[in-house]
Amino acid sequence: MASQTDSIVQASLAALLKDSSFLPELQDKTRHQAFASLASILSTPNKVHKAFLRISLDNGEIVRIPAFRVQHNNTLGPYKGGIRFHEEVKEDEVINLAALMTLKNALHDVPFGGGKGGVVLTPRDHSAKEINLICQKYVHYFSDILGPDKDIPAPDMGSGDREMDWMMAEYKSIRPGEPYRGSFTGKSIINGGSLGRREATGKGVYFSFRYMLHDFLKEQQTFLSNTGNKFAKTLLGYTDKPMTVAVQGFGNVGSIAALEAYHCSLLQNKVVAVSDRNTMLYNSDGLDIPALIDFTGKNKGDLPTSEEQLMKAGIKAVIHERDQVLEQDVDVLILAALQDQIHEGNMENIKARFIVEGANAPVTGKADEYLSEKGVIIIPDILANAGGVIVSYFEWLQGRETQFYNEEEVFKLLVAKMKATMDSILPQYFGDPFPLRQNCYIHSVMKLSTVLYRQGKLY
Ligand code: NAD
Repeated sequence: MASQTDSIVQASLAALLKDSSFLPELQDKTRHQAFASLASILSTPNKVHKAFLRISLDNGEIVRIPAFRVQHNNTLGPYKGGIRFHEEVKEDEVINLAALMTLKNALHDVPFGGGKGGVVLTPRDHSAKEINLICQKYVHYFSDILGPDKDIPAPDMGSGDREMDWMMAEYKSIRPGEPYRGSFTGKSIINGGSLGRREATGKGVYFSFRYMLHDFLKEQQTFLSNTGNKFAKTLLGYTDKPMTVAVQGFGNVGSIAALEAYHCSLLQNKVVAVSDRNTMLYNSDGLDIPALIDFTGKNKGDLPTSEEQLMKAGIKAVIHERDQVLEQDVDVLILAALQDQIHEGNMENIKARFIVEGANAPVTGKADEYLSEKGVIIIPDILANAGGVIVSYFEWLQGRETQFYNEEEVFKLLVAKMKATMDSILPQYFGDPFPLRQNCYIHSVMKLSTVLYRQGKLY
């Protein structure tokens, strides 16, 4: 497990060890032994599967493509997590992402464990036929360990519904007569995907912020005023105050989060900056997000990069350097691109008072500590970006029942699940000195520990 995730898990265990009200049945030496056992269970994956997928390219060349499936922990249910298609996939990174899935599912009471997959390739360098072969081989090589009650992959960076459809089809032909709809999630609607899955992560990202800033702040004013906690002071500073928003990344997650902010009538929001892999656009009066989404839809996902393109699309914005998005003087920064974006080198230049992690691990451990010390509220990845896995869970359920929900039902269920998590975390966060990330980890670790203890697995 990479150091940031592992060190927060270990810090959470250390805090719980001292808390005598947690698992009071465990005392003295037995308690220390059980916690040592927990530390080793949570910091190592159950299994790491590796394969070299042998495929024939369109030009006749035979290649072996490295592929992984990491099964981190299945205490709470079948392993669950995406398959990343990217040239920089590394075993350690996949292990870390699988551990994050274990914690994320525990936090949101999703009955899955944590897993993750990876294939080391550059998707744009391969034809559809080659990608199809790679998908088939992935399922073929890992068919014994996958399945609706064992390990359920989903898309991740570089893969999407097309790949999940192909993988499910291969799984079905390898295991004729067995249930197959729940073997992969993130499929196309026609192949048993869930309505609302595409928007789920971005909607959840914005909801996590909106819920804190609207519902929680309004309902808990007295509690927040009395705690004296630095994060409560930050939140109270935004009572009925207009807010500016910047969004890094304008793909699936970032564009939907920006659109939610644009349409939100409960907060006085203005999305003034958005960025993607090429550029950053700024407008102090607020950007026209629907027009930008329309533009990216017609231009391979990219934002406008020239005055000419902006004028043609009727969009008012000033073009800036891509990475300036991070240092904008805004109230809220939504990170929806890559990992490690805020780090020791730029943390002192961050002006936002709220950071919402749509991407996984976009803030490094050092930067997290520094900004939290200053009272910046960071809504961490495992809390903010769980919309995708929550709706994947609904997809899995719908596949089992072969009964499908409409989009409104999906979003209602998603919001209810995220609200339940926020309600169980926020009072503690605004009442004690730990950053929100650690509060979330403590919550997940408590759940996993209690289940393991009750199952007699801590020895
Ligand atoms: P995506 O590929 O649809 O979009 C990524 C966006 O980031 C694009 O607009 C791209 O141009 C931009 N980008 C790339 N490099 C950048 C850079 N250096 N600076 C600014 N922008 C840059 O991906 P997505 O599905 O929106 O996922 C975004 C992040 O959220 C990823 O880290 C992903 O792992 C994470 N995530 C996604 C989901 C999901 O359901 N899609 C769920 C959980 C976490």
